[in-house]
Amino acid sequence: MWWQSAWHGMSGLRMPNPIEDILKADIQENGPMSLARFLEIVLSHPQYGYYMNRDPFGGGGDFVTAPEVSQLFGEIIGAWAADVWMKMGQPERLILCECGPGRGTLMADAMRATKGLPDFHEAVELHLLEISPILQERQRAALGEFNPQWHKGLENLPDDAPMIVMGNEFLDALPFISLQKTREGWAERVVNYDGAYTFDLRLAAEFEDLVPFHLKKAEAGSIFEAAPVRNEFMTRVSERLKRQGGAAVFIDYGHVKTSLGDTFQALKDNKYVEALSCIGDADLTSHVDFEALVAEVFDQVQVHGPVTQGEFLRALGVEVRAQMLIDSNSEQQCADVKNGLHRLVASSEMGALFKVIGLSYWHGKELEIAGF
Ligand code: SAH
Repeated sequence: MWWQSAWHGMSGLRMPNPIEDILKADIQENGPMSLARFLEIVLSHPQYGYYMNRDPFGGGGDFVTAPEVSQLFGEIIGAWAADVWMKMGQPERLILCECGPGRGTLMADAMRATKGLPDFHEAVELHLLEISPILQERQRAALGEFNPQWHKGLENLPDDAPMIVMGNEFLDALPFISLQKTREGWAERVVNYDGAYTFDLRLAAEFEDLVPFHLKKAEAGSIFEAAPVRNEFMTRVSERLKRQGGAAVFIDYGHVKTSLGDTFQALKDNKYVEALSCIGDADLTSHVDFEALVAEVFDQVQVHGPVTQGEFLRALGVEVRAQMLIDSNSEQQCADVKNGLHRLVASSEMGALFKVIGLSYWHGKELEIAGF
């Protein structure tokens, strides 16, 4: 039969992702694992982590982000940053930091859009927070002409000039934990392996403290997600803004009010898959709790929003910019611009699910930033 000869050319068993051996050994030694630790290993293991050895974006990848949808996104963020710089009095040096720049598309569009603004490019010192060597290479290809410097965290960024920080779909990539209400109290959902990956529950009094007061009485079975690492990151950003002056903007999918619910999601090939399947080969994230972010920093810096991505982009003139591109380009390009605009701002697309939060601080004074 023809198909038998075809089979001779096929390779053997599907190789499990090597990350699985690391997980299994860890669980065997230390018992079921916190979701935060699980995510840390699966996403960021130096050799086998999901982000460390692939470019996950685009139609052929696992997910598509706003800057990859349309150049309008990065251009508007670029105009936003330039406006902040002008409101700060056009400082001679500006530490411009993007967190988790992916392919570098957002920043490349932002820099192109602001090329004509006198002195802005001369002021910009570009710093990129990125853990993935393969994405660093992509970023070097997109942004090499601006001499970026790479960092793994905020600690080593220069602190002797004003700063603008931005991050699109960065916070969702940071680890979180998942808690479940049981009849005995709040328990942590921990990952176990027993022939298959499952969630076990670990009761401990400390988890009670992570649940906001108004949700403590939730029904048994309710799930609450907490992300101390994300909140902590916001604190680090606000400390920097207080020390140096400046502003930050973070865009992500999430909710404006802290609430119950399981938002743990896995995306592979642009489709949702079961969260604990395809380990190491799917992007694992959860929705960002914007109320928790606000609560973390509102007494430290000026907080703007959260507003929806649609509101933010419209307030910054995305429709005007789209019309400019439509007026000066071919029919096919116009269709791409219109389609991109729709995907970014429509409530049925990214416009409502994605939220934007801004932070600012300028020598103890208010610094009004655009878009909110
Ligand atoms: N902002 C890009 C990419 C979003 S995906 C876009 O909108 O297209 C998340 C990005 O954050 C990736 O570049 C990933 O490698 C990076 N990342 C994930 N965890 C990180 C961490 N702990 N520190 C720095 N970068 C991280």
